[in-house]
Amino acid sequence: MADGCLFCRIVRGEIPAKIVAETPECVAFRDINPQAPTHVVVVPREHVASLDAARDPALVDRLALLAAEIARTEGIAARGYRTVINTNAEAGQTVFHIHLHLLGGRALGWPPG
Ligand code: AMP
Ligand code: ZN
Repeated sequence: MADGCLFCRIVRGEIPAKIVAETPECVAFRDINPQAPTHVVVVPREHVASLDAARDPALVDRLALLAAEIARTEGIAARGYRTVINTNAEAGQTVFHIHLHLLGGRALGWPPG
């Protein structure tokens, strides 16, 4: 837990968010600035700053499999979706609590910007 961390505060319920799924270890909520019709952010309850700081191999598995479950619930799994973890400055990471973006509901270009 990190006191000033935005996503820790969402996990603790101190900042409102549109929660879409919760497990004992993860929370998923709608991105406040959605980049696609479905844009959900999946975070661990535990504070880990980035993928570069992650050491538990199960952590990323949990984020990815919860995103896959949400994609099925949102009805975008068959059409396709993208999962993204931005890590550090050049990838555009702005919140330093590891999170996996789930994006879908429209055609997604490749390569990303
Ligand atoms: P990143 O740029 O990969 O670090 O992603 C951070 C994401 O968090 C961005 O897509 C933001 O739009 C999103 N975000 C920032 N503040 C909030 C918030 N209060 N609730 C939901 N999503 C947020
Ligand atoms: Zn945090």
